Parts: sequence; structure tokens; C-alpha cells
Amino acid sequence: MKKLLLILTGLCLSAMVNNAFAKDVPFAIAIHGGAGTIEKNRFTPEKEKAYRAKLKEAVEAGYTVLDQGGNSLDAVTTAIKILENSPFFNAGKGAVYTYNETHEMDASIMYGKNRQAGAVAGVKHIENPINLARLVMEESVHVMLSGEGAEEFAKTQGVELVDNKIFDTEHRYKSLQRAKFKMEKAKQQNKDYQAAHNALEVEYKVGTVGAVALDKNGNISSGTSTGGMTSKRFGRIGDSPVIGAGTFADNRSCAVSATGHGEYFIRYNVAADICARVQYQGKSIEQAGKEVIHDVLMPVGGTGGVIIIDTKGNISLPFNTKGMYRASKSSNQATYVGIFKDD
Ligand code: ASP
Repeated sequence: MKKLLLILTGLCLSAMVNNAFAKDVPFAIAIHGGAGTIEKNRFTPEKEKAYRAKLKEAVEAGYTVLDQGGNSLDAVTTAIKILENSPFFNAGKGAVYTYNETHEMDASIMYGKNRQAGAVAGVKHIENPINLARLVMEESVHVMLSGEGAEEFAKTQGVELVDNKIFDTEHRYKSLQRAKFKMEKAKQQNKDYQAAHNALEVEYKVGTVGAVALDKNGNISSGTSTGGMTSKRFGRIGDSPVIGAGTFADNRSCAVSATGHGEYFIRYNVAADICARVQYQGKSIEQAGKEVIHDVLMPVGGTGGVIIIDTKGNISLPFNTKGMYRASKSSNQATYVGIFKDD
């Protein structure tokens, strides 16, 4: 009897210790649904409510994965899939149109524990590009696959190819027509495709989804998925699938997912630069993110934002546009959802 009591006390004590320990282990997630000309006066109350609800749904789904002990890669893919499946955001269903009126999508994912990464670029028939990026990471010997090759690989993994039309939405089509009209006008002033595209305002150039997460084992991950830029030239690949530009994760520094004018994010190696400042200069993610988004990108005209997480569960969400769809939740912070600058 005494022995049994001792065993029971021991078990209780160890459960208590485990519980206390579990409480102290931070875990967290942040997501974005794109940055850009996002101003309050462009929203009806219903529209704003619907966007906020979708962001909340995605961040909380990712958080639940972490809360149940799941790893950060699963949390990131879970949240991104919800955003890809929503027509509100420029990724998966709701992806913008190329100049040729099709959808070409890019996505990537990275694991901070071992710097494994996977990416797909220019895929047209993959319902959830983030899943394929993850398969590239886990089931292929490569980091990035593009176009037809990526889709052939998808077939070998049992991923069904879908009609490009499933990504169609009326609002993106209208946006393409407006962009084309503006580009035609610019061409009449003797501007070539490049100059005409450059003349488009920021609202045609940004909007993407992404997530960063820290799990209970202390591993961080990041992922990004996008339809790219409205009216982009077919074959154009942005920063989102480029490891170091649109996505980066390393347990020694931070995990970042970006949204913005991809050409700048590639040239300024944005995600990796933020993490390098954290790792080599000992800066906080807040400081490093602020420097790159405001002091590096802003002066050269690079618009957009990033979401950043570190292994302590700190989160930072800087952007230099009018707004950024964003949300976060951590073991010590309730759900936060923001759209506008002053949210
Ligand atoms: N960065 C994406 C791209 O250039 C677009 C975006 O984030 O809005 O493809």
C-alpha cells in the first residue's frame, strides 16, 4: 500500500512539474494576407468583418496545431492553406491574373531547425501550392521546382492537378482589366511593357499570404504563397518562392515571411537580411525588421511588409504600406487581428 502511495505521489509530482514546464514553453504564430493600399474607406463594415474573421480563423487553426504539440511546419501549412482557399487573398483561389489572363503561383516553406527548404514557382494547376512546396522539401532532393517540372513532381506525389480556372474570381479579373487599361495608356505614351508595368500603382503589385510559427520544441518555420503581381508577364517569378528573399527560417535567428513588391525583396534579400541582423548584430527582431522595411526598402521604393518570429516567441509585424492583413496568437498573448496602420 505504502509503495502504491509513493508511486502515485511520484506520478502526481512529475505531472505537476511537466505541466508547469509546459506552461513556460512559449509557442506562437503570426500570419499575413498581404500588404498594400489597404485603407479603411475601401471597406464596407461587412467586408472588414469578413476579412478579420478569415484571418482569425487561419491564425487560430495554426495555433491549435501548436497547442496540441504539433510542429511549426504543420502550423504554418495549416494556416496558409486556409488563406489559399479563401478568395480574399492573392494566393490559391483568389490569385491575381497574369497579363495573359491565367494564374501562375509561387510558394515556399522553410524549417528553422535544419534549414531545410522547399519551393515551387509558376505552378498553374496546384490547388494548394504550399503543400507542394512542402513535398519538394520533404520528398525531393531539390529545393525549388518550377512550372511543368513541379507539376510532374506533384503527380508522382499523388497531388491532383486542377483546372487553372478554379482560381478565377471576378474581383481579380476586374483588377486585371483596370491594370491593362492603365498599361495601354502608358504604352500610348511610348512606354514599353516594363515601363508600363512600373507605372502601375502599388495596389497591383502586392498581396500574398504567409505564416511564421514557433512550436513547443523550440523550432521555428516560415511559409509564403502567392499569385504574384497583377498583370505580371507570364513566367515572372517573384520573391515568395525565393529562400532568403520572401521566406527564411533559422532557429539561430528568426523566421520571416514577406509580402510586397517582389523584385525589391529579391534584390535586397529581405528575409535573410533581417535574420542576419538578428544573428550577427544581436538585434531584436523588432529592430532588424524595422531597419530593413523602413530604412533599406522605403528609400529605394520597395513597398511591403514582413512577419517575424523568434525562438522566444517574440513577434514583429512591420510594413511600410498603408495596411497589411495580419494576425497573431501566442501562449502568452490573445488573438490579435490587424488590417490598417493604426489597428
Ligand atoms: N511578393 C509577391 C510577389 O512579388 C507579391 C506580394 O507579396 O504581394 O510576387
